[in-house]
Amino acid sequence: MVEKLKAKIRDIPDFPQTGIVFKDITTLLQDGAEFRRAIDSLAARYVDGHVDLVVGIEARGFIIGSALAYKLGAGIVLVRKPGKLPYKTHRMEYQLEYGSDALEVHHDAIPEGARVIIVDDLLATGGTVEAVVKLLNHFKCEIVELTFLVELTFLNGRKRLADMPVHSLIQY
Ligand code: AMP
Repeated sequence: MVEKLKAKIRDIPDFPQTGIVFKDITTLLQDGAEFRRAIDSLAARYVDGHVDLVVGIEARGFIIGSALAYKLGAGIVLVRKPGKLPYKTHRMEYQLEYGSDALEVHHDAIPEGARVIIVDDLLATGGTVEAVVKLLNHFKCEIVELTFLVELTFLNGRKRLADMPVHSLIQY
C-alpha cells in the first residue's frame, strides 16, 4: 500500500530552492481512492485512542488533519502563520535555516485534559512540529502522538523530537 501511495507523490527538484527535493503531495490528494486510503490508514491507528482534537499545521496539515478529524469524530484546531487567527492567540517563534518564523493558536483552542494528535503533511528536520509542541505547552493537554503522511528519515527529525511519540505513513 505504501508503494502505491509513494507512486502518487511527485518529486520536484530544486523547489523552493536549489538542492531541495520537494515532495509534492497534490498528485496524491487528486486521487480520491488513494487519498481515502491514506487517511483511513492513519485513522486506523487512532480509532481506539480517544482523540479529542487533531491539531493541524498550516497549510497542508489542515488538509490531512481535517480529513483525519472527520474520520475520528474529533475536532480540529488550527495552528496558523502570524496574523491569520482573529481572536487572542499564543505565539511561538522558531528558527529557520535563514531567519525565523512564528506560529499561532487561539488561546482557548484546547481544553484542559484534552487528548490531541498533531498532524502535518511531512516531517523534515522537525523544526516546525517542535515549535507546535512548545506552543501546546500553554495548554494542559495530552499529546498522544505527532503524525505525518510523509517522513524524510535522512533529515533525522525524530532525533530532534526524541521524547515524543512520532508516526509516519510513508518514509523516504
Ligand atoms: P521541518 O520543520 O523541517 O520538519 O519542515 C516541515 C514543514 O516544511 C512541513 O510543513 C512540510 O510541508 C515542509 N517541507 C519541508 N521539507 C519539505 C520537502 N522536501 N517537501 C515538501 N514539503 C517540505
